[in-house]
Amino acid sequence: MKTKFIFITGGVLSSLGKGLAAASIAALLKARGLKVALQKLDPYINVDPGTMNPFQHGEVYVTEDGAETDLDLGHYERYLDQPMSQINNFSSGSIYHAVISRERRGDYLGGTVQVIPHVTDEIKNAILSVATDDEDVALIEIGGTVGDIESLPFLEAIRQLRGDLGKENVLYIHLTLVPYIKVAGEIKTKPTQHSVKELRSIGIQADIILCRCEVDLEQEIKSKIALFCNVDPDAVFTARDVKSIYEVPLMFYEEGLDQKVAILLKLPAKNPNLQAWKNLVHRLNNYSSQVVIAIVGKYVDLKESYKSLHEALIHAGLENDSRVMLKYINSEDITQQSLDCHLQGVQGILVPGGFGGRGIEGKILSIKYARENSIPFFGICLGMQCAVIEYARNVLHLEGADSQEFTPETPFPVIYLMTEWFDFRTQTIQKRDPGSEKGGTMRLGAYPCVLKSGTRAMQAYNTVEVAERHRHRYEFNMQFAQEFQSSGMVLSGFSPDEKLVEIIELQEHPWFVGCQFHPEFKSSPMRAHPLFREFVRAAVRLAVPDDRDFSLALQESSGSTTS
Ligand code: GLN
Repeated sequence: MKTKFIFITGGVLSSLGKGLAAASIAALLKARGLKVALQKLDPYINVDPGTMNPFQHGEVYVTEDGAETDLDLGHYERYLDQPMSQINNFSSGSIYHAVISRERRGDYLGGTVQVIPHVTDEIKNAILSVATDDEDVALIEIGGTVGDIESLPFLEAIRQLRGDLGKENVLYIHLTLVPYIKVAGEIKTKPTQHSVKELRSIGIQADIILCRCEVDLEQEIKSKIALFCNVDPDAVFTARDVKSIYEVPLMFYEEGLDQKVAILLKLPAKNPNLQAWKNLVHRLNNYSSQVVIAIVGKYVDLKESYKSLHEALIHAGLENDSRVMLKYINSEDITQQSLDCHLQGVQGILVPGGFGGRGIEGKILSIKYARENSIPFFGICLGMQCAVIEYARNVLHLEGADSQEFTPETPFPVIYLMTEWFDFRTQTIQKRDPGSEKGGTMRLGAYPCVLKSGTRAMQAYNTVEVAERHRHRYEFNMQFAQEFQSSGMVLSGFSPDEKLVEIIELQEHPWFVGCQFHPEFKSSPMRAHPLFREFVRAAVRLAVPDDRDFSLALQESSGSTTS
């Protein structure tokens, strides 16, 4: 195997930005002409994050192949611009699940199954599986913090791999916190020393230390850390706090981090071309306008729950040369009386995906407000379903219209549970057990969507067929299609067999679009997603009216403003 491995561990505390550090180093190595893979190993026992509460765990990121993964994979895709899949994310749960299934099948021939070697072998195989395509380098991020009981089997596995693969093929990067004590004006290295020592006590000597700090570390401090932590004097780098996460790759480059990695691993690295990253940071710091977009959802208290959505709106702002300010509103706080107070003055309203009936009426009220006041609206997955319910109740006058998710006995199930559908990837009929609430019963991953000409959807994408990622159980009920269409709702995107409605829109409105999929998972800082781009464009038109044509001439091509 020619692939070299970089293991990234974290110390002192969590949330230091290990995922972003991994993604940024990977992006720099890719810019140096290397073929790169990324993988995240999560210490929790859940088999995947699919069933984990977004309030605790943040967003569930969905890949093309339908894996429900950790949100760090979103950073990986956005920074590397290459698709991730099932093999890019493993948890302790998935590893133990594989080992226990094997034990039940009798594969261990009655032997005693142990953490070492059986679990660690399973982990090593998972790690090696990410580098099957002749990658030059694979970066493996170990979730959690060194010292946690949960991550021990992962650390033991990566310790063994240095022996298995050879010293020259494995590199350990340790990300720690170096606190700056403002009142004393002092930088403290002790937590880092302890964390590196903890790592050494399980047999891993860090090669590079990456110090998260509020300020740049002076050489004197770096030398002290190097001495105490037993690394090269030039192997200590600052991961300084920055305004935007997209500044991290350039900051690491200026620190010389990727160069040190290339030298230590003897990688055939060219000088990197970072022009695209430089342009990006320049645009982030030089917007010519500003818009406020309201996000009306349920998980607003933990912003990590809407990570990809947040980023997709930033990307769309970049392409419209407009700073997107996000106003997160808990839909449970929205009532007829408080509507104006929450939504007056916003230039766009977005209702994101979600599960369960809590806060639904607030979302429906916000959608009505957007529709009646000609405020650009974007509904994503549950947001589209709510837009359909709102239209059914208030325009079609189908009293009590609802989704079967919230009111199973509704007289007008405009959103309903499909029990059977055709899976274009596997070319098989998928069946769903209506009684089951398990993640496995969802429509997951990328599905094709055929666009209708003359619609905003087609205008945005400027093509006839797209593939977008799904994560839901309920669908638009085609029994009502005729009624919706004859009263002005356009069904603008369908599955190729025309059985599933994927996009809806209103023509007599500046911009009102809902989609059954999650476009946020496919947006990148270098290339905003077309639907987000057009949504924000409509919001900018509301914020900065000019003499351009407001009707968004529907037959025109979109004419992206990307540089
Ligand atoms: N709860 C809805 C469904 O299952 C929408 C899911 C979502 O927004 N991802 O269909």
